Amino acid sequence: MNTWMTKNRIRIHRIICLYANVYVVTGHGHCFLVDTGPAAFQRFLARQLRRLGITRIHGVILTHSHYDHAGNAAFLQEKFKSRIMVHPKEAEYLKKGLSSVPGGITAFARVMERLASGIEPKMLEFPPCAPDALPASEHHKPFYDMPVTVMATPGHSPGSVSVVVDREIALTGDCMFGVIPKKILPPFGDDVGQMVHSWKQLLATGCHTFLPGHGFGVSRPTVENNITALSP
Ligand SMILES: [Zn+2]
Ligand SMILES: [Zn+2]
Repeated sequence: MNTWMTKNRIRIHRIICLYANVYVVTGHGHCFLVDTGPAAFQRFLARQLRRLGITRIHGVILTHSHYDHAGNAAFLQEKFKSRIMVHPKEAEYLKKGLSSVPGGITAFARVMERLASGIEPKMLEFPPCAPDALPASEHHKPFYDMPVTVMATPGHSPGSVSVVVDREIALTGDCMFGVIPKKILPPFGDDVGQMVHSWKQLLATGCHTFLPGHGFGVSRPTVENNITALSP
């Protein structure tokens, strides 16, 4: 499934840029994006937006400033005059077009991290972009009358945020992964304890579905099971 609709008729459409998800959220006369995909997918993204009939984008919320989420922010800012919103703790990376490098959590990721340290700069760069601010408050409503809130969900990176739509569906960025069935811990992250805390905060919103930056949707029971598995 690539489209979801909430009770207040907010539509969420997922564009899959091979390995990274971009979400198009429309309703109440507004359209905004959550994440933008890697820069290598700029033309693909533009084509998908055209196919969906999107001509105006009021804002872009970046869940964090990694290259696979912020790669097309500069392009969208220029082409659609979109407001680019990111948590203040991620803003410096966006301005420089550099990803912060989170520590590897899984053994595989730790090996990858060691390998990446030699080649990292080029691979993790993306076109820089001057963001408009996103207040660091826990619950920020970026689109006036739209039932959408942004909440801080740190753990993967210090300024990671999630976007909660209608208290039904949360767009979580890399706060959780949907790549391996039933396992949501991302391979990379700064702080596992903080991430588990963020999962609890996400459950507290009442959402039934969590749509991550990579992979497929995650259900409430899956989040609950992962919290139990990682709790001491
Ligand atoms: Zn990330
Ligand atoms: Zn990512």
